Amino acid sequence: MIGAGVSGLTTGICLAEAGLGVLIRAERPPHRTTSAAAGALWGAHLVEASDRSEGWALRTLAELERLAGGAPASSPPVGGTASAVPPTGVRIASGVLAARTQTAQPRWADAHGGFRACAAGELPAGYKLGWRFSAPLVDKVVGHRVGPRPVRPKVRAEAQHLPGGSLLCYNYGHGGAGITLSWGCARDIADVIITELL
Ligand SMILES: Cc1cc2nc3c(=O)[nH]c(=O)nc-3n(C[C@H](O)[C@H](O)[C@H](O)COP(=O)(O)OP(=O)(O)OC[C@H]3O[C@@H](n4cnc5c(N)ncnc54)[C@H](O)[C@@H]3O)c2cc1C
Repeated sequence: MIGAGVSGLTTGICLAEAGLGVLIRAERPPHRTTSAAAGALWGAHLVEASDRSEGWALRTLAELERLAGGAPASSPPVGGTASAVPPTGVRIASGVLAARTQTAQPRWADAHGGFRACAAGELPAGYKLGWRFSAPLVDKVVGHRVGPRPVRPKVRAEAQHLPGGSLLCYNYGHGGAGITLSWGCARDIADVIITELL
């Protein structure tokens, strides 16, 4: 595996859980990656809007909720809250996603229990519309960091057969949603590798 950010680590875990030996090599160790300093809130942002990215996001939601100790109550309380942080570092936080201009409801809203539109009085000043929901939030390094959000029209999560018989797998281009898509993409890539190898 090349890379020790969330993409490389989740893919490595999926392969290790399937019984494969995994060697991870990276220029930067986990705590010095963009992943370690990202906002780390579940919710697709600056990434392809498609059925497959929605599927990856919902698959990751289930995994992060499991790591947080269970799905949140279907009706999040009024006022932003964050539950105590379990040892996994993943907790469920509730709050408002607000927009200053007319914005479409996120694609995943209907599949996310407890998602609801805000009444006008719940919005911060200057915001036109918003939604209240609970989502996993991953504890991250506190500090100043400059990090890119490399994005492409479509996330590259696929395998390529190289001349000579090697299999090269890609898992990158998640834009502002690498945490949100992490477990979903990792499981898909791991499934491809396991199918090829076993
Ligand atoms: C400010 C900010 C806020 C964000 N907030 C969120 C959020 O709230 N929710 C969310 O889902 N996403 C968020 N993101 C996006 C998310 O952080 C990224 O999509 C995700 O971290 C990408 O993970 P990655 O593992 O692909 O890459 P990285 O974390 O960048 O890790 C890349 C790894 O590959 C290694 N590597 C790279 N090139 C080489 C090479 N040539 N040789 C050897 N090793 C190499 C690096 O050293 C590193 O170990 C945010 C991003 C930013 C910048």
